[in-house]
Amino acid sequence: MYREDFINDDEIFQLLENGKKSDEAEIKEIIAKSLSKTRLEPEETAKLLQVEDEKLLEDIFEAARKIKQDIYGDRIVFFAPLYIGNKCINNCLYCGFRRSNNSIVRKTLTKEELKEQVRILENKGHKRLILVYGEHPDYDAEFIADTMNTVYSTKENKGEIRRVNINAAPLDIEGYKILKKAGIGTFQIFQETYHHKTYEKLHPPTDLKGDYTWRLYGLDRAMEAGIDDVGIGALFGLYNWKFEVMGLLKHTIHLEEKFGVGPHTISFPRIEPAIDTKFYNQTKYRVSDKDFKKIVAILRLSVPYTGMILTARETSQVRREIIPLGISQIDAGSNIGIGGYTLEDHMPEKEQFQLGDNRSLDEVINEMNDCGFLTSFCTACYRSKRTGKDFMCVAKLGNIQNYCEANGILTFKEYLLDYASTTTKNSGEKLIQRELEKIGEKSLKKKNDIEEKLELIEKGIRD
Ligand code: SAM
Ligand code: SF4
Repeated sequence: MYREDFINDDEIFQLLENGKKSDEAEIKEIIAKSLSKTRLEPEETAKLLQVEDEKLLEDIFEAARKIKQDIYGDRIVFFAPLYIGNKCINNCLYCGFRRSNNSIVRKTLTKEELKEQVRILENKGHKRLILVYGEHPDYDAEFIADTMNTVYSTKENKGEIRRVNINAAPLDIEGYKILKKAGIGTFQIFQETYHHKTYEKLHPPTDLKGDYTWRLYGLDRAMEAGIDDVGIGALFGLYNWKFEVMGLLKHTIHLEEKFGVGPHTISFPRIEPAIDTKFYNQTKYRVSDKDFKKIVAILRLSVPYTGMILTARETSQVRREIIPLGISQIDAGSNIGIGGYTLEDHMPEKEQFQLGDNRSLDEVINEMNDCGFLTSFCTACYRSKRTGKDFMCVAKLGNIQNYCEANGILTFKEYLLDYASTTTKNSGEKLIQRELEKIGEKSLKKKNDIEEKLELIEKGIRD
């Protein structure tokens, strides 16, 4: 028997079944609704998920690209993951950190080691981090807050981390309050799978993580504790991908209805191989690149205003194809070994899984320049407390563009001057010129304002 929650497996199956019956006209109507930037209803998303016709799929992709452009423009926000500790008391079947995996060397960064990792990341130009922890009594809220304080207070040359997000086990309300006080950005919890029976199979019921409902409502507790920005996600490859997309939408609607604002971000990691972990080769639910493209585009149409994160789990080739379909945040130059940024090497015995994109931050940014995407290190919304509902109001009025366009360019200019290689600097300067021309076509005053600030940055003034 499952306790009542807002994910009803039978209802989702029924919606997906009904979705098979829709015709071309209905699909086009749903696409038109998303283009008006209205969140879709589960019945509508279910219909999009059943589209097989190549021409209609192309219409969905085209709409996803347009929504991304309209809401986020060319900007892509960059961040880096920083693994703090890999001790874990759970036994999630797919994860390299599970407690029964003896091939993993267990390690928690000391304060000094953490400072060293932060300095290295700051020297590459990073301004945002997501700290990642296994689930262990050592990693309680006080410990997490302590690591956050260390990150915020470690400053190197011109570098500083301005937003710290957290991916850790769900906490109780008191725990979240401690993180709120320490200045958390987003608290992220992936439900892994929304399908109850699969969840039970992959997470032993005697483990702390075995409690589906405690995890499902983990972000409700975060919001009740006053954390404005929360991130949801599903690990694709554990169960049927269409079911998981429906779960993510249901979760979004639940948060919207209860708190007046949905999640700040959605993540859709695909399962990766991990050391001494058979799951990757055994699961029959691995998602193909073709279906992954559908997942991203349909999510973009379903929740137009929610940030979407694509991580370096994916290869550079996949990232190139997927980013235009709706991605607003990516990581780059990532190393997920504990202490991995020091050695600049990959240490499978300390890593949770294997990354697909191992290029440096500078290389990825150079490619973004060539593809016409503007790298942003901006954290202004967080710094001026435009989070949660306030952020969504700005976003829905179409004003993220106004706030973020200029800030994106200015933070990118700082990156080019302080951290970029010559190649990236050259391609980046050209991109800034192209962006300024676009802005000038809409407002000459805005272009002039930005140019004035760019000159100050050239002279050495920093935000
Ligand atoms: N330990 C905490 C938990 O499980 O909630 C938080 C951190 S856990 C290290 C972060 C996420 O990594 C998990 O939520 C899961 O989705 C993802 N993950 C685990 N094993 C993975 C694998 N083999 N491939 C890709 N992602 C994986
Ligand atoms: Fe531990 Fe999280 Fe990995 Fe599960 S996913 S084994 S809880 S680190």
